[in-house]
Formats: sequence, C-alpha cells, structure tokens
Amino acid sequence: MSVVTLSPGNNAFFLMPRESAPSFVLRLANFLTVKPDRFLRAFLGDERTLASAVYLHHKSDFLAEASGLDRQAASLAFIRRLRDPAGARTFLDFTVADHHIDQTVRRVSPVALARDVEAGIPPYHRLPWSLSDLNHDPETGSPLICACDHCGRTLTWENCVDVASCGWCGRPLWRATAPDEPMSAFDEFVSALFHPDPIVRADRRSKLAPVLIGWSEGDLLDLMSTLRRVQRIFPIGLGAQSAGPEVIEANSSISRLLNRPLKDAALSEDRGAVTVAAAATTSALMTAPRPIAAFLNSLLVRRA
Ligand SMILES: [Zn+2]
Repeated sequence: MSVVTLSPGNNAFFLMPRESAPSFVLRLANFLTVKPDRFLRAFLGDERTLASAVYLHHKSDFLAEASGLDRQAASLAFIRRLRDPAGARTFLDFTVADHHIDQTVRRVSPVALARDVEAGIPPYHRLPWSLSDLNHDPETGSPLICACDHCGRTLTWENCVDVASCGWCGRPLWRATAPDEPMSAFDEFVSALFHPDPIVRADRRSKLAPVLIGWSEGDLLDLMSTLRRVQRIFPIGLGAQSAGPEVIEANSSISRLLNRPLKDAALSEDRGAVTVAAAATTSALMTAPRPIAAFLNSLLVRRA
C-alpha cells in the first residue's frame, strides 16, 4: 500500500488543540488517501476499532511520520497508561483511572463543533469528551450528546467516517440540538476540573478542602462517587438530592456525610440498624480505590 506522507515542518497536518487520536487519525486518513480504510487498518490493525486509537500511544511514531508532526506533538492525542498506580491513565494535564474513560459511545458537543465550522477549522473530537462523568464541553459549557438528534441512534466510533456527523444517517452534528437540561453543580465542577485554562482549574480547586487540592482528577471523581454511595445507604426521603461538590469543600462536611448513616442508625430504636449502617459504610469504603478509602477511613467516627 502506498501512503503519501507529509514532510516535517510547515507542511505538517496539524493536531487541533486537545484533539483525540481517533479524531486525528480519521481526519488524517481522509486527507492522505482515497482509501482511508487502508490507512486505518495499517494504524489500528482493524479499521473498525477506531475507538481504541486513543490508547495506541506506542504508535506515536507512526502517526508522527504520516502527519509530519514531531513525535511529542503527535503523542498529545493519546491517553497513556501510568505505571503507578495500576490502572491510572494520563492525558493532556490530567490523571484519571481506566474506569473514567468510556469509548463505547462517541460524545460530541454540537456547539463546539459549530464553533469549529464557523471558525473555518475542521470540526474535531476533544479528548475530555471520552470521560463518562463529563456531561458538558469544558470550553464552551455546552452539553455533550451521545445520540443523534435526527435518527435517535447512539453515536459510536465503529461506524464513524467523520467525527462531525452521525455514522447512521449522516446528520451533521454541528447542527444537532442538545437536550436543554440545566447544568448541575456537579456538572460545573467536573467541567472546571477539565477546563483547558489552568487558571480556571486552579481557581475551582482552591475551593476544595485543603487536603484535596492536589488530588488527581480521577481521585476527586472517585471520592464524589463513594460519598454518593454512602449517601444512598439511608436516603432521606424520595428525591433527595445527590451530594454536590460543596460537600468536599471541608473535611467537616465530608465527615458529616460519611458518618450520617451511622449517626441516624444510632438515634433509631432499631438495635440492628447500627450494625447494618456500619456494614454498608464499610462496604462502600472497601469498593473505593485505596487512596480514597484511606482518606475517608481517617474521617470515620469510631465508636467503642
Ligand atoms: Zn443519525
């Protein structure tokens, strides 16, 4: 197979800011060759596994050579595995865990894509859009969608021939309308954590309990998810709001939420309730990743 490669320097095919490898590889394949599937097969092994391109950091050289970018620039498109701790992944300035990344669907922000089109740049997929906890594009604050507003089908990588359109019906996704749901405090928090501007991120982090300010993005997401699990042990009535990010702004509020099931159980007449609450709290902590469990354990009120 012959693939035209670009010479390094001014003629490089550019990676857009925060662009993901699947998006870049697909654009490059369409640009370089009339048979993009052949290029994709050469890069991926199988052109249907475009979603996995995000993990192929060891193929940065291949991508650099084909695009004319230097290796370091090309490597920015990938999510890399960290040796320590096990299961940790890093991309751009962020550290998360394996379970925060979901490539089974393709999430896009129609507003961000529309802005690309307006600016005359190719509409592209951003790396943070692969995070399952992120519901809004951090840069524009606009909702992410993972279903086509025209045919209603789930957007996937498997049938994706253009990141800016639906792989089922061809609907240009920059014209798609996203459901008009208000952004929750948690959504705002997650968006700020992954904001492109480090000043915005630092500003949001400065509001956290001091011990948490330096935590990785993934650990903060896991802390919130563990606290929400504890909160569900004895929900206060139906429709009780899930704990928002304000809970992790002080050790005292974290401790209050964490110890509430035990406290409520102790106040009740039911002698068995304390045992149940203790077991449920322990179980919620045990399923949390180690640093989160250790931190929460230190805030657990021990009763003799
Ligand atoms: Zn569609």
